[in-house]
Amino acid sequence: MEVDKEKELREAEEMVKKNIILTTVDTALNWARGHSFWPVTFGLACCAIEMMAAGASRYDLSRFGYEVFRPSPRQADVMIVAGTITRKMAPAVRRIYDQMPEPKWVIAMGSCANGGGPFVDSYAVVPGADAFLPVDVYIPGCPPRPESLIYGLLQLKQKVQNPAKVRLSRHGK
Ligand code: SF4
Repeated sequence: MEVDKEKELREAEEMVKKNIILTTVDTALNWARGHSFWPVTFGLACCAIEMMAAGASRYDLSRFGYEVFRPSPRQADVMIVAGTITRKMAPAVRRIYDQMPEPKWVIAMGSCANGGGPFVDSYAVVPGADAFLPVDVYIPGCPPRPESLIYGLLQLKQKVQNPAKVRLSRHGK
């Protein structure tokens, strides 16, 4: 009888180990956020064509759960700045960003969004999205291919899911 009880206890312990995961609410939320970015739908120039290609069947962004491009900033959590930012357009882009709910992230896609690109000397072009937005990930290229955008989104996933690591690496540890 005693042996049966011990066996039952051992089995129960095994079951708990295999079926119960202990974590914090923040970790669970960040895990979910990293697997379901909803980018806000807009494009500024040629890079936006590559962004559209990333969402189409050949590159199939939906494999990662990132294909739900939202027409309203209120339903989006990622802004992909895809294209040249003119000084005239910058206030509108900032307004869209301000209308997105927290938490939210920004990806600068392509040379223009990273630093003005081939138009950096133009009086009409903002020399990079980080002049007026808090950029999380920079994707180089003119234009970057859809694979680069997918890689950038996966880098953002790492950042969202490991906030402590990101803070540490910022301090060079
Ligand atoms: S980086 Fe190149 S491809 Fe992208 S918007 Fe600028 S000029 Fe166009």
